[in-house]
Amino acid sequence: MRENLKPCKKCGGKPVREHWYSGGLVFAVRCDNPDRPDTCSEAFYYSRSKDPKEAIRKWNEFQGG
Ligand SMILES: [Zn+2]
Repeated sequence: MRENLKPCKKCGGKPVREHWYSGGLVFAVRCDNPDRPDTCSEAFYYSRSKDPKEAIRKWNEFQGG
């Protein structure tokens, strides 16, 4: 099943999913605009989750829905 990611509301950039290891896997969605303003990071921090689906849900929630 494909998850739809809303575009970044700060700059309209394309989002990308990320994960890394930090005492367990952590998932997040990040704005992939190379010229993104610092405010794009707010959505990235907000979306961080141990659950990849939750990270996507929180990203979309931050973008307004
Ligand atoms: Zn952005």
